[in-house]
Amino acid sequence: MIENKNKEKIHEGLKKYWGYGSFLPLQEDVILSMLENEDSLTVLPTGGGKSLCFQLPALLKEGMAVVVSPLISLMKDQVDNLKDMGVPSCYLNSSLSVKEQRSAVEQILKGDIKILYLSPERLENEETIELLRSVALSFFIIDEAHCISHWGHDFRSSYRNLKMIKERFKDISVHAFTATATKEVQKDIIAQLGFTEPKILIGSIDRPNLTYRVMPRSNILKQIKEILQKHNNEAGIIYCLRRKDVDSVSEDLMKLGIDNVRYHAGMTDKDRRLAQDRFAREEVNIVVATVAFGMGIDRSNIRFIIHAGMPKSLEHYQQETGRAGRDRLPAFCYMFYGGADFRLWSYFAEESSEKETIMKKLRAIYDFCVKPQCRHKVLSNYFGEYYGKNSCDSCDYCLTELDMVNDSLNVAQQILSCVIKVRQERYGFGTGHVVNVLRGKATEKIENLGHHKLSTFGIMKEETENYVWYMVEQLTGQGFLLKDSEYLTLSVTEAGRQLLNSEITPVLIKPVVAARKKDIAKKATEKRDSEWAEVDQDLFQVLRRKRAELAREKSVPAYIIFSDKTLRDIAAREPLTIDDFSVIYGVGENKLRAYGNIFIKTVMDYKQKSEEV
Ligand code: ADP
Repeated sequence: MIENKNKEKIHEGLKKYWGYGSFLPLQEDVILSMLENEDSLTVLPTGGGKSLCFQLPALLKEGMAVVVSPLISLMKDQVDNLKDMGVPSCYLNSSLSVKEQRSAVEQILKGDIKILYLSPERLENEETIELLRSVALSFFIIDEAHCISHWGHDFRSSYRNLKMIKERFKDISVHAFTATATKEVQKDIIAQLGFTEPKILIGSIDRPNLTYRVMPRSNILKQIKEILQKHNNEAGIIYCLRRKDVDSVSEDLMKLGIDNVRYHAGMTDKDRRLAQDRFAREEVNIVVATVAFGMGIDRSNIRFIIHAGMPKSLEHYQQETGRAGRDRLPAFCYMFYGGADFRLWSYFAEESSEKETIMKKLRAIYDFCVKPQCRHKVLSNYFGEYYGKNSCDSCDYCLTELDMVNDSLNVAQQILSCVIKVRQERYGFGTGHVVNVLRGKATEKIENLGHHKLSTFGIMKEETENYVWYMVEQLTGQGFLLKDSEYLTLSVTEAGRQLLNSEITPVLIKPVVAARKKDIAKKATEKRDSEWAEVDQDLFQVLRRKRAELAREKSVPAYIIFSDKTLRDIAAREPLTIDDFSVIYGVGENKLRAYGNIFIKTVMDYKQKSEEV
């Protein structure tokens, strides 16, 4: 009975404040358990709607909710967002002036605040604890809860202290949220927070709206340019492994007339903040960055992520690609990898006390790159989840963009035996030389060494250099060949010997040739056109500009005003009255009051102009 009543209440709240018609998977369960005051741990992927899971019950319950978040830069955005929806909220962290702080405390003491954001450091402070003990609290939220665990990838020492919440606030429930948590991390979170019988709610980590493509790197600038052409006018992040790569890619794009901002830890705080703000307010669409960029960014309409190099683990890949398509509209992830990335990360691993764990993770992501399989499936399985679909329809493998080599065993055996044949007793040769021998290119070096007399000389003469090179890369990636870390010379591994004995067959893919590329691009365009069939794309761009203008005026990120999904709905339905506007996706009561007339006018002006033309 109570549950039914609560259900009704939360559906009403969802429509009233957010303007959404239904819950996303697991949201309802999470919210209901919060209304029942049970401690809980929720794992939901990025874009799964975690914020709403605690913001909605915070509005319905008596007292103030306290949200512990590690990201000071995000607190302001979250609070701006809530205020824009008409929810009284504030934050306390080191970025506030003494005056601002005093004003926030006054509002809290008066009972005017429904949601308070706090940095974990603040909770180490006795004054803050006394403040919280003097007002009525609804519950505590631990956001980005994986930061509590040594096993996670963003460990924060101040998160270790959060156990005191259960000790000092005995009757208040605590709810932990994270996007990525392996079983180990989940256990650690529960133990560290001192939960006894928590409710555990785990959502699927799969992101069906993301399309993954993984390709070997060749001319990276050309490869990036090709992708940018497909995503004209859309927002994206280009991740590079090193700061100097960020600088050079950013500069090269500028020279090509492609506006972008840079972001890495070598820049001043001010410059980084500026870059982030320009991106969040939609003044610029492209960020070229190291992994330092992203934690504090909530822009929900990032349509593509390009990895110019391979990240060091699938955890990182999942988190970085996770920044795309938070609005659940289609988004695209492209990764360009090379053996050099593997060597770079192995080199760093050498110095670590956790070398074995790091190498295990590195091998897993390298496998992901070089073994053609359904990308969604590999990612799901890696995070311990069963993937039930036969085809995801949204990765290069399932979209059959990868052409398999039919006689892969034969091709691999030719290459491996060539590596053995050219190898001298003490030293071997690099990929370039092996490729030349296989293709029968009689270079001076080959003739001097007498390698033109080997039986493998010219055995692959029909193939292009790019093709043979790519096969060697894959065989190295799959562990049949080993590249010496210093001299880059090739040798055959134990697994390679098994392959030569025909005990194992490798999976090899052909490089994508120009004609096939065209075909793939055509299919992608057709798919995109069908997704936009109902939407007036010109109007959508006009609405985007209006949103950017409002964001600038209010000094808030553009997504706070409306998401792309909302703009698309406006561009499809073209509302001309407040009544029409009230049924638009993502328009709650406050937004209707604040922006209804402004956007209706934009639609009217647009229609009038189109009729005049
Ligand atoms: P997370 O923190 O899990 O990454 P967010 O809280 O940022 O996800 O939510 C992602 C997007 O989904 C936001 O734009 C949010 O408003 C939207 N969203 C949340 N819940 C719903 C819902 N029930 N229906 C539609 N959109 C939703």
